[in-house]
Amino acid sequence: MKVMKFGGTSVGTPQRMREVAKIFSPQEGEQTFVVLSAMSGTTNSLVEISDYLYKNNAEGASSVINQLEQKYMQHVAELYTTEEFRTKASEFLQKEFMYLRSFLKASNFSATEEKIILAQGEIMSTNMVTFHLQEEGKKATLLSALDLVRTDENGEPDLNFIREATVKRLRENPNFDIYITQGFICRNVKGEIDNLQRGGSDYTACLIGAALQTDEIQIWTDIDGMHNNDPRVVEHTEPVRQLYFEEAAELAYFGAKILHPTCIQPAKFAGVPVRLLNTMDPTAPGTLINNDIQRGTIKAVAAKDNITCIQIQSSRMLLAYGFLRKVFEIFEQHKTSIDMICTSEVGVSVTIDNRSRLPEIVGELRKYGTVQVDNDMCIVCVVGDLASGNVGFETRACMAVKKIPVRMISYGGTNYNISFLVKAEDKKRTLQALSETLFNKD
Ligand code: ADP
Ligand code: ASP
Ligand code: MG
Repeated sequence: MKVMKFGGTSVGTPQRMREVAKIFSPQEGEQTFVVLSAMSGTTNSLVEISDYLYKNNAEGASSVINQLEQKYMQHVAELYTTEEFRTKASEFLQKEFMYLRSFLKASNFSATEEKIILAQGEIMSTNMVTFHLQEEGKKATLLSALDLVRTDENGEPDLNFIREATVKRLRENPNFDIYITQGFICRNVKGEIDNLQRGGSDYTACLIGAALQTDEIQIWTDIDGMHNNDPRVVEHTEPVRQLYFEEAAELAYFGAKILHPTCIQPAKFAGVPVRLLNTMDPTAPGTLINNDIQRGTIKAVAAKDNITCIQIQSSRMLLAYGFLRKVFEIFEQHKTSIDMICTSEVGVSVTIDNRSRLPEIVGELRKYGTVQVDNDMCIVCVVGDLASGNVGFETRACMAVKKIPVRMISYGGTNYNISFLVKAEDKKRTLQALSETLFNKD
């Protein structure tokens, strides 16, 4: 069995839905497990509806719901060819929009309601595609991700639950060629509707692929694989044909939007290869992510935005043990994870991407020394086989950024990454300089 995930643009119009349905229709005797995102733009509209409802602006929310409903009813007219399925789909969607409207009256709108609203995008797209497949006479069925994916008390995916629930549902629903489920949405430990954060459909696919130990996890999107730099920022980027699991995990975590930040971990632990493919060009080779390391190659560069740097300087750190533990405990207590770290004899600098507890963290750090905070920073990460034996590789990366004021450098944490902390305003020229030095073939 293969797991195939199709993102928002891949199911963004009725035409695209028809095209991808052809891709995931398996050969005789094979089965596919398909994970779908919401149609592109829908989750953003659902966020907008929730934002209005947080502000008690039912009128604003209602107008976004109306626009969305109009769009979906148009899709129904275009997607189905028979009256039977047009009726089925429009009745289903009308119920969905009635449900969304029921939140207009909610008095204390909270994160719980917001998560229910955000889940409707995937619920709508998967039902629409399943109806389409059934109309085409395919043996397809929909399994609700709300029954398959659950997070634990730490908000992390509960792998045992996912494995048992998915195997059970497949066993209860034999004799189908195509199983469809929603990406992104899940239940939390309290049984409430929750999600795996924006872009989380990739994560769903990798969790299910890992749970079922499938042959391959395919992430189908709107580009021909992982590029060697961010194509939204730098011109003339090129697809990378193969990545080692660790390299892909670093790129995803450090900002390559093509993959959800933590989706590679479950695939890596289960040893299931991940292939990134392009729905606009289905026969293109894409990128294969597996356990092979290409020695001595720098693969790609990525950037993570909205980084805050905190520096703590203390003469008490001089020759003292236990200082770093005390510093890290403060971040732990505030459930804030650290990305980069650099130390010297009298100071330590760390970066975080979540500022929600920054005032409390800084307040407590002040007990140990002078604290300086720099906002609007960006981590630029160079990924490849950067083991120390590959003499000169880190020098090439450093040479590329020679004209850029670099705030921190991290090298040696793993063999696959060298990271630079720069100001957000220097991101573009840093990425460009790295592409020119590391990947320019002239
Ligand atoms: P989907 O909706 O299919 O999940 P996303 O928009 O989340 O698609 O991810 C695909 C997009 O990621 C591409 O269109 C591209 O603009 C962006 N992207 C950012 N960095 C990279 C990279 N290094 N390689 C490929 N795409 C990237
Ligand atoms: N629909 C969700 C989002 O837009 C999840 C996803 O597309 O992966 O973030
Ligand atoms: Mg995505």
